Amino acid sequence: MVKLINFKWQQLILSLGCLLLIIACQSLYPTTDPDAKPLKVATDPTFVPFEFQTADGKLEGFDIDLMNALASPAAGLTLSLSKGIAKVAGFAVQFESLPFDGTISTLQAKRVDAAISGITITAERLKTIAFSRPYFKAGLAIAVREDNQNIQDFNSLKGKKIAVQIGSTGADFAKTIPNAKISTFNSGPEFFQDLLNGNVDAVISDAFATLYAIKNGKLKGIRVVADFLTQEYYGIAMPKDSPHLDAINKGIATLLSNGTYKQIYQKWFKVEPPQLPDS
Ligand code: GLN
Repeated sequence: MVKLINFKWQQLILSLGCLLLIIACQSLYPTTDPDAKPLKVATDPTFVPFEFQTADGKLEGFDIDLMNALASPAAGLTLSLSKGIAKVAGFAVQFESLPFDGTISTLQAKRVDAAISGITITAERLKTIAFSRPYFKAGLAIAVREDNQNIQDFNSLKGKKIAVQIGSTGADFAKTIPNAKISTFNSGPEFFQDLLNGNVDAVISDAFATLYAIKNGKLKGIRVVADFLTQEYYGIAMPKDSPHLDAINKGIATLLSNGTYKQIYQKWFKVEPPQLPDS
């Protein structure tokens, strides 16, 4: 009898010990909330360094890090930071590749919960979809071949052949250039190739992506003549009346105040991030 009681006590202590160990492990290595519903997030991985695919097919980039930091405590950020974020928003991100041009209609049809793809918040887009608070300060740039001397600014683009990405803010901007002959492309790599081939005189696209590609040797023979022609802000896009808007906005605020945003910004751009407006 005594032996039996002893055995039960031993069992109880052992079970409690195991329980404590499990709790300790969970707080040291937090995982995404098991009850969390997957959040389907569309992205067009042709926009270095915001979203792109590595040789082995892995999605990487500033936007990918930001989205993972917003959603997952085990997103590769330091544990102390991740734990804080987990409380703000608990969901598992499921990325889906989607051509940039199809993003808005896909969101309108609610086929995905959100999209992160260097998407500029514009009044026109706000008519049909919702955006989070701004998470990135951006702007457009004019890129030309290195040997081109006659395009220096917006005015020298008049009547020129210009390549842009379909459905982008660069495409909208190009429409305002008098007599410009505009060619549209599906993604960045394609329109830069057209510029290098001599089919067009200039490309109008997002300054950060263009400057990054030039700096990292991914765009040889191309230079930027005017950058930040416009002031734009990227936002996480969602269907109108999205139930996730609040959590995502709160998550961005947390990442901005706890240093995670700065950490991700410096990882990709090696400089201090600029101030962002609240809305
Ligand atoms: N920022 C630009 C836009 O929203 C282009 C983004 C992109 O090519 N991914 O139109």
